Amino acid sequence: RAAEFARLRDTPAFTRDGAKINLLMNAGLAVDLDILKETGAEGIGLFRTEFQFMVAEELPRFTAQAKLYEQVLDVADGQPVTFRTLDLGGDKVLPYMEAEREDNPALGWRAIRMGLDRPALLRLQLRALIAAARGRELRVMFPLVASVDEFRAARSLVETEVAWAVRRGRPAPANLRVGAMIEAPSLVWHLDALLPMTDFVSIGTNDLMQYMFAADRGNPRVADRYDPLSPPALRALSAIQQACADSGTPVSVCGEMAGRPLEAFVLIALGYDALSMPPGGIGPVKRMVLSCDREAAQRGVLSLLKGTAGTVRSEVETLARKLSV
Ligand code: PEP
Ligand code: MG
Repeated sequence: RAAEFARLRDTPAFTRDGAKINLLMNAGLAVDLDILKETGAEGIGLFRTEFQFMVAEELPRFTAQAKLYEQVLDVADGQPVTFRTLDLGGDKVLPYMEAEREDNPALGWRAIRMGLDRPALLRLQLRALIAAARGRELRVMFPLVASVDEFRAARSLVETEVAWAVRRGRPAPANLRVGAMIEAPSLVWHLDALLPMTDFVSIGTNDLMQYMFAADRGNPRVADRYDPLSPPALRALSAIQQACADSGTPVSVCGEMAGRPLEAFVLIALGYDALSMPPGGIGPVKRMVLSCDREAAQRGVLSLLKGTAGTVRSEVETLARKLSV
C-alpha cells in the first residue's frame, strides 16, 4: 500500500468523470514540512499555528513566530498555505498562560473569542504572518467564528496590520486572502451574510459535529455516538457547499473526516473539491478519487440525504462498493 501511494504522489487527483479534486495537507509544526513533498499534497489547507505555542516553554516571540511562518512558505514554494490564527483556550491551555477554570471549555473563552478580547497576541501573530509573507501571497483563517461581527472585527485587525507594515515601508502581501472556519452551527444559518465578506471558508468538521450533536469530541463515551455520515450532518454539509457555490466562495473541508476515504467520497459527491487532511490520508483519498465517478456518486448520496435513520454509513458503503470506489 505504501508503495502504491508513493507511486500516486505525482498523479493529479481527477475523478473518472474529470473533476479535479484539490488534496491538501494539515500541518502545524516545522517537522510536518518534511513530508509535504512526499505526500504529493497541493499545499497546506490548515496550518494549526497554536502547535508552536503548545510545545514551547514560554510564549513564542515575534521573531520565532515569523521564522516558522517563513519556513512554511519557503518549503511550500508557491503552493497555497492557509494559516489558521491561534486556536487556544478550551482544552488547549498553555502551561505558561493564566487560564480561568471553565465548566464548559469547548463552549468557553477560546479561539477567536480570546483573540478579539485580548487583541495584542492576535495582532502580534498577524504582524508575524505579514512579515513572513515578504510580499508573497498570504492566506489567514480565523477559528471558531460564531457570528459575522466577529469575522468583521477579526478581518479589520488584519487590514490594520497590513496598513501598519506598509507605513513602515514593508511590502503588503501580494494576494491577501482572509477566511473563516465554519465550526459553529450558528454560521451555517448566516452564510448569506458571511460569505460576501470572506475570501474563502473552510469547514472544521471536528468542531462543527461536536457542536451540532452536542457531543464532546474528546470524550470517548460520546465522541463516536453520532456519525458524520448521517442525514443531519450531510444536509448541513450540503447546504454549506451550495451556499458557497452560489456565492462563488471557495470552500474546503479540513476536519479529520476529509482524510477518510469513505467520508471523502461523500464530500466529493456533495460537490466539495478541496479537502485538507492529515498527511496519511492523502494517498488513500487520492486512490478513492481516481476510482470515483462523481456524477454517479452525487446521485446516490443525494438520495441518502433524505434518510430517516440516524446513520447512512452502511448505505454509503454499499453505494461505494456498487460504484467500485
Ligand atoms: C476542526 O475543528 O475540524 C478543525 C479542523 O480544527 P481543530 O481540529 O484544530 O479544532
Ligand atoms: Mg476546530
